[in-house]
Amino acid sequence: MKRRDLLKGLTVLPLAGGILSESATGAELSGGASVVSAAAKRDLFKELGIRTFINARATLTFMTGSLMQDEVLDAINNSSRRYCMLDELQDKVGAKIAELCHAEAATVTSGAFSAIMLGTAGVLSGNDPKKAAMIPHLAGSGMKTEVIMQKGHNIGYYQAMQNCGVTMVWIETREELEQAISDKTAMMAFMNCNTNSGKIKHQEWLEVAKKHNIPTLIDIAADVPPIENLWKFNEMGFDLVCLSGGKAIRGPQSSGVLMGKKDLIAAARISASPRASTIGRGHKVNKEEILGLYVAIDRFIRKGEEEWNYWLKQIAHIENAVKNIKGVKTRVFVPEIANATPNLEISWDPAILPLTGEQVQNGLRNGDPGIELNFGKNNISLVTFIMVPGEEKIVATRIREELTKV
Ligand SMILES: *Cc1c(COP(=O)(O)O)cnc(C)c1O
Repeated sequence: MKRRDLLKGLTVLPLAGGILSESATGAELSGGASVVSAAAKRDLFKELGIRTFINARATLTFMTGSLMQDEVLDAINNSSRRYCMLDELQDKVGAKIAELCHAEAATVTSGAFSAIMLGTAGVLSGNDPKKAAMIPHLAGSGMKTEVIMQKGHNIGYYQAMQNCGVTMVWIETREELEQAISDKTAMMAFMNCNTNSGKIKHQEWLEVAKKHNIPTLIDIAADVPPIENLWKFNEMGFDLVCLSGGKAIRGPQSSGVLMGKKDLIAAARISASPRASTIGRGHKVNKEEILGLYVAIDRFIRKGEEEWNYWLKQIAHIENAVKNIKGVKTRVFVPEIANATPNLEISWDPAILPLTGEQVQNGLRNGDPGIELNFGKNNISLVTFIMVPGEEKIVATRIREELTKV
């Protein structure tokens, strides 16, 4: 095809219309900068009629998680124009993340769920690719078949382990734990967010596991901040630590980290993309997510404290806008574990303000821009850590409007 024909073909695409001319150069075609900037000007949400909103609620997958910072978006953009070898990238980024998080090794996964699944696969297969290819069909494979967890830690995400074909063994007390351990036990898993709902805490869990030489995994998906949680559980002695990249760290929403013991991370990677006949092939991450997450973690360690102070200021701004409304009470709090960022609860006396939390949420949702937050009977609560800076002003004004409407 001659260049002229190629260009003719391209000009019928709506995106290329008006950008490419007969004089378009090869650089413009391959660099794509002008095409990208035109695409960036497109408001695809508007074009497709998709409702967008200010997220004052939480980092929830069904609400598309969190927003990436400019540094992360730059990493994604800059890395998206060249090729590299995926394993080399994982080796080198993994080494950097491991260093930042005081782990022996690390690898980027497609979310914390994927980290849990790949970690389990690595524990089962060891460094044997033939075994890895058999997962999740464990019968007759010579692989161990059970993972032990505390009943109080059942938060549903154990499905990531079950995907590997293991059976979950649920226990409550130390005695039950000791009895449950057998030559079928592959791993002992701990869900950090439910620490307070389990009888056995971190140190005791590790002590029993070490005594029986059983690998341990901990899910700390939403437990950063505090910043030091990035290394706390590696230092404590968990063999595998699973972290989400798309929560407060604000890396790509479909990214996560599996970190821990060198041999186990290497084993987990046998089941990971790009290797094809494995359970993890569908849990693909590409260079943009891998580098984006690396930058997000590095940034979080550098700027996490500064950001915390900014979140407090945002919360104070909203609190000040509503606290003098008659019948309204405010409370600032930080959850003890999981999503431990500043929250603002706004509650009111229904005798003075005859409104339900749901009515306020609906009013805010239907505004422009819409706002999503948490609500109870006579209260609403919110976070600011995943907002675009400045959105707290809109949120403050809108909540005040809704609460002074009656
Ligand atoms: C969010 C979350 C996950 C899943 O994380 P993804 O990165 O979305 O896969 C797993 N466990 C806990 C405790 C979580 O909060």
